[in-house]
Amino acid sequence: MPHIKRKPSPPGWSFRTQTRAGCFCCAPPRGMGTIKASDKNPLQTAPDASKSGLLLKDFKPHSMLRVPKNRIERPRFPVIDAHVHLTWSSKVRSGVSVGEDITVFAKPEDLLPVMDRKGVRTLVNLTGGVGKGLERSIELFDKAAPGRFATLTEPSYEHFPEANYGQLQGEAIDHAHRVGARGLKLLKTLGLYLREGVDSGALVAVDDRRFDPMWEACAAHNMPVFMHVSDPEAFFLPTDEYNERYEELANHPDWSFYGPEFPSNEEILAARDRLIARHPKTTFVLMHVGNWAENLQAVAECLDRFPNTLVDISARIGELGRQPRTAQRFFDRYQDRILFGTDAVPSPYGDDVPQQLFGDELYEIYYRFLETEDEYFDYAPAEIPPQGRWSIYGVGLTDTVLRKIYHDNAARILSLS
Ligand SMILES: [Zn+2]
Repeated sequence: MPHIKRKPSPPGWSFRTQTRAGCFCCAPPRGMGTIKASDKNPLQTAPDASKSGLLLKDFKPHSMLRVPKNRIERPRFPVIDAHVHLTWSSKVRSGVSVGEDITVFAKPEDLLPVMDRKGVRTLVNLTGGVGKGLERSIELFDKAAPGRFATLTEPSYEHFPEANYGQLQGEAIDHAHRVGARGLKLLKTLGLYLREGVDSGALVAVDDRRFDPMWEACAAHNMPVFMHVSDPEAFFLPTDEYNERYEELANHPDWSFYGPEFPSNEEILAARDRLIARHPKTTFVLMHVGNWAENLQAVAECLDRFPNTLVDISARIGELGRQPRTAQRFFDRYQDRILFGTDAVPSPYGDDVPQQLFGDELYEIYYRFLETEDEYFDYAPAEIPPQGRWSIYGVGLTDTVLRKIYHDNAARILSLS
């Protein structure tokens, strides 16, 4: 991997001396007998130049660890997957969903066999849309297979520039509640895409007061807000050799929010916290472990500070599973405030994001992570780990904790049985 530069080594060290020293104690380098007096370091061997051209994208190492592999085909308790995408707004303008038309990613009959095999009682479709699109989502899923699907609505951002937007959006939540929406979902639109003129002008802050009637309407109808705010911290850093999500950002350059045109991760999260503080009666589920799974201490502080918040674990087992001891303590401490979610997207729409590709394999990975103490396994059904080149460790949750995270917490806040 010659094009991956390392961080500068401490003075007096070089990458080569660090790695070679370990080899020498086991087997002296070949050619020891021909060391010349002029050679500076008798421990050095010459690198194989023919091996120096391997590109990172072609590096697919197989782990040599012989450790237990527990396949978990079915979960220990029924599962509510509180974060999936079965429909999506058909029109998206500069990252902002507009209009009521929806694209349907799958039909119930495509999904139910997987759900039955994998012990998934209910899928919660977060991106159910608005207006007629929302009604169609609910018709297609919730009404076609009662109890197996639940649908959330979204804000109608295209009306944002209108003078009475707050009132309109509050009424849209009333309508969504009437037709059967269980909650409200926000994509990362707020804080990163929505602008004063929808797709032009200044970015609209997460805590903009024009949304206040929307948050209050959600509280009045007991509809939790599933909120994706910000993104992994690495998305706000340069896509360079030090970025742990380099390959992911190289594959999806539009996911990078690095640069003066974007607020920082900290600014977005601070605005989120001000918003939550202002609406203590609204329940906020902070998606992707509050989008700071890399810093569970910060997430814990947020949960401690705001009793009206929960988190889901979707698309972040790659972070949680890299810190299994810290994560296990986090699961234990916040066992009443964590939801199971995968962020699953059915094929072919999800093919590009294997860590979210709906199917048996994805569920088995999540179950293995939560239920076993297996070591060093893939967090996504993919040859190359799509979010970063690491493997994960199971957290082996107890039955009590597992039942709440798999089912009870989501059932409670979404009023599902
Ligand atoms: Zn999602």
